[in-house]
Formats: sequence, C-alpha cells, structure tokens
Amino acid sequence: MPDQILLIPGPTPIPAEVSRAMSTEMFNHRGPRFKALQKRLIEGLKQVFQTKERLYILTASGTGAMEAALVNFFSPGERIISMTNGSFGERFAEIGEVYGLQVDKIAVDWGEPLDYKSLEEKLAADPSGDIKAITVVHNESSTGMMNNVQAISKIRGNHPALLIVDMVSSMGAVDIPVDRWGIDVGVTGSQKALMLPPGLAVISVSKRAWEAAQGAGIKSYYFNLHLAQEYFEIGQTPNTPALPQMVAMEVSLGLYFKEGRERCYARHRRMALALRAAIRALGLELLVDDEKASLTVTAVLAPPGVEVDRLRNEMRDYYGVEIAGGQGQLNGRIFRFGHLGAVRELDLAAGIAALEMALVRQGYPVELGRGVQALQKAIMNYS
Ligand code: PLP
Repeated sequence: MPDQILLIPGPTPIPAEVSRAMSTEMFNHRGPRFKALQKRLIEGLKQVFQTKERLYILTASGTGAMEAALVNFFSPGERIISMTNGSFGERFAEIGEVYGLQVDKIAVDWGEPLDYKSLEEKLAADPSGDIKAITVVHNESSTGMMNNVQAISKIRGNHPALLIVDMVSSMGAVDIPVDRWGIDVGVTGSQKALMLPPGLAVISVSKRAWEAAQGAGIKSYYFNLHLAQEYFEIGQTPNTPALPQMVAMEVSLGLYFKEGRERCYARHRRMALALRAAIRALGLELLVDDEKASLTVTAVLAPPGVEVDRLRNEMRDYYGVEIAGGQGQLNGRIFRFGHLGAVRELDLAAGIAALEMALVRQGYPVELGRGVQALQKAIMNYS
C-alpha cells in the first residue's frame, strides 16, 4: 500500500502491477525482444491517441516531447502562434523562442479562456500562409482549464499552419481523437494518465507535419524524428531507451484497455464533477467555470486567511494526502488536485476529508464531512 495519497497533476499514482514490472531485468535494446516490445507499445499508443499516423516513444519528460514538437518542423525565423493561458502555454512559446522561431503569443491571464477571436483574425490576415504553426495546451495543468482544441482546429480550417498540441495531462483520461481533430503534432508524458513513472514521452506526427519536417532548417541532435523513424524501421531507437518504463508501459496499457477507453473517460469525468461538488459544498471557490474546467486537474482559490503552503503541508504531514500549490502568478492563490491516471473515487474522499481537517486547523469554518458527503452523492448520481 502506498504511504501517501498522491493527488497532484503528475506524477500520478501507479498500479502495483506497473510498479512490479519496473523491476525488470535488462535486455538488449538492439535485439528482437525490444523490437517486438516497441512495436506493440506503438500499436497500443496509437489506439490511445486515436491516430493511424506516425507516433514515437521518446526517452524524455513531457517537456522533451514539447521540444521535439518544435525542433523538427520549422526553420529559424518562421512564425508560429502560441496560444497561452497558463504556465505550459508559456513553455511552448519559450521553447520556440530558444530555437529562433518568431513566436506570436496570443496570451491572456492564467485561468482566463483562450482568445480564439484573435487567432481567427490573425489567420484571416495571413493568406500567404506565413504562420507555420499554432501551439496550444489542451489541458492547462497550472490552472485546471481545458482549452478547446476542436475549436482551434475549426478556426485553423484550411490554413496550412500545423496544429501542435500539448496533451500531457489529458491524453488517455479524456477523449482526444488526434486524427479526427486534425492535430498535426500531439505530445504526452508517461507520468500522467498513462499510469507510469516519469521518463517517457510520446509524440504523434501527421502526414502534413511529416512533410513539413522534410524542409526544416532547425535541427536537434537528441530529438531528431528522422532518426527516430530510421531506427524505428529496424526495430530500435537512436539512443538507449528507458527500458523499465517501456516494459511497464505494456502492463499499464493492458490495464488501460482492460478498463476500456470509454469507462476510463467516464471515471475521470465522474471524479472531476464530484470533486467540484465537494469543493462547492465547503463554500470554496473554483478558479475555472464548469464548462471550461479540466477533467483531470482542479484548481481551488484559497479562501481569505488560509495559507496554501501550510494547508498543503498539514494535509501531507498529518493526513498523508499530497496536493499541489499554484505556479507562477497563481502561487499562494490556489491549490490544485490532480485526479488522473490510477486515482480512484475514494482517493478523492480521503483528499477532501484531509482538506476539511486542514481547513479547520487554520480556523476556516467548515462542517467536517460536508465535502465528503457531497462527493459521495455526486459519485452515486453520476455513476
Ligand atoms: N505540459 C503539461 C500540460 C504538463 O502538465 C506538464 C507537466 O506537469 C508538462 C507539459 C511538462 O511535463 P514534464 O514535467 O514531464 O516535462
């Protein structure tokens, strides 16, 4: 049994079977066992991503895959639009700038809905197709807002800009049909909904993104997808991959498909709605309105007089529940629950119970059990 209940946006708890699979013996990553393993994993991941296009497993964290998404398809000085309303949206823009792209940020305050109208205007004013890509974070973990990638894809329409999407904290937990939504490059990390430790990232690449990659002037040594493709064709990876994570991935994908995609999405939705009901029952305010709220990460505004660091520390030290604080401009103003991957409904009951007790310790007036009861009722209504 884990000695803590991990309710942060990632790493997420991992099932015992996955943990056991991590203690695999080592084997040759240039031999037949690896070749067959990688092939099976990619087939499984393509089902998770709902894509028939290219997909690669990288030994990197999610940020590595974000970097891979920007260093394979463009030339220095080319223009991209970065839709930003949180920390990870900004990260995409920063990576683009590091590699010499001309990054046109459409930024709003963290926690505000993206400015879809400005995107529409900029694309309409670009008949010659100078804008080469649009980056967006599907699930902005820093605020608990789920951005509307489908709407962006629709706005993009026939414009040739590639749609590059960070799906790090949502892929697997939420229905994101990559091909159907026209996502050209999509990335995720292993330590989120895929129920694995950190160490692997996944990137999908559409046909037109692959074509764009042929003329790209920006190069990377480590995140070179041409090389990844060449090696994939001989059943290998360019460098030594994180073998334990890959062995474990086969187990986690097995669990994922055993639960079933639809049931997994439904569980995540149920948890998000129940948690929101519990927070409201405690008289607390949520950062993001219901219709834009994430199904995997929930941000709560710290009520007046409640100190976030103390709240989190006491939830951890007294009750064994780990939650996240705010990042950047939201530091000290919010606390966040992650509820993705192998989190179960009753883990959230423990999380809410710990929150209630930690609030009482700071003199905030809550009736113990009120949030837990709301959570239970919501779970039963929605299940
Ligand atoms: N994008 C999102 C939405 C995330 O939540 C995270 C991690 O929390 C990342 C990117 C970066 O992933 P990593 O920390 O694995 O580099």
